[in-house]
Amino acid sequence: MVHPDDPAVPSTKHPAPCSLCARPAVTFIRYSGAHLCRQHFIEFVKRKVTREVRRQVRLPETAVIAVAVSGGKDSVAALRILHDIFGPRRGTRLVAITVDEGIRGYRPPSLRIVAQNCRQIGVEHHVVSFKDHFGMTMDSTKARWGQSTPCTYCGVLRRHSMNRKARELGADVLATGLNLDDTAQSVLMNICRGDVERLARLGPHEKVQQGLIPRIQPLRQVTDKEAFLYATLMGYPVHHSVCPYAGGAMRNRFRDIVLELERASPGTRYCILNSYDAMREAIEEKYPPAKLAGCTSCGEPSVDGLCEACRLVQALKKGQGARGEGNDGRRRPLTRAP
Ligand code: SF4
Repeated sequence: MVHPDDPAVPSTKHPAPCSLCARPAVTFIRYSGAHLCRQHFIEFVKRKVTREVRRQVRLPETAVIAVAVSGGKDSVAALRILHDIFGPRRGTRLVAITVDEGIRGYRPPSLRIVAQNCRQIGVEHHVVSFKDHFGMTMDSTKARWGQSTPCTYCGVLRRHSMNRKARELGADVLATGLNLDDTAQSVLMNICRGDVERLARLGPHEKVQQGLIPRIQPLRQVTDKEAFLYATLMGYPVHHSVCPYAGGAMRNRFRDIVLELERASPGTRYCILNSYDAMREAIEEKYPPAKLAGCTSCGEPSVDGLCEACRLVQALKKGQGARGEGNDGRRRPLTRAP
């Protein structure tokens, strides 16, 4: 979601010419001082994504790339750019996966939007639902969340569902729509709550763990606003609604903090990302990935006994709150994905 206070929200009435040609600029890239026209902006984003994907992963000729697509601007942009990059490559197969958490009024329209995008580029679309996987939905468990925020449950169950489906489809990697703003927020958030182990697992994942599909982040160098402008200029169908349960997430506070820092000092998001990358090897050495076994209930990768998703589902079914947290609070550090 593009925040209305984003210091660099694109202006369609930008008076300046493009810094690279004479055409009118559609945006001003504040952190670099460049004005870019439509064509140069599109090339600029695609170049960043292509470079980042090459940096993150080396794929075999016959790779299967699963893309987690919620229908929002980020995941749609990731899917479409990956299709532009890998579509012409013979043997590479792109598949889109959407998780249906069972959130009435929010998820159904986004499923249609993802399906529309997939039809336009001829990509398979797979939907995995909480109802089928766990026998419950976010809406149906609302009364049992207790003090925990909805994302606590949803985040863990989403990652579990996504990993399982990607593996069933034979995916080599799972691409997500995480952008630069998301990454900067996650880095700060984990530092502020002292969860260094989780910081080590933010991805992109270079080491393969048994049963876990490595996640890549094609938009890691693309800002929130750039993803929004890219999807808009390309005319892609995008779902703009905000999840009705997103309100209490701690991430919202960090979104404001990161934007405030960026406003005061353009380029801060890149500085946070670069600092994280510089520390990453040392953190990963101190917190190597846990040894995984199969969950005693679902068989998905787990550190011991029940995986985190089964533990949460059981707690929900018994009407108990979560002991750890998923997306936005301190959690029991387990594995990097499910
Ligand atoms: Fe789930 Fe939270 Fe995302 Fe809503 S905002 S879809 S509850 S993780």
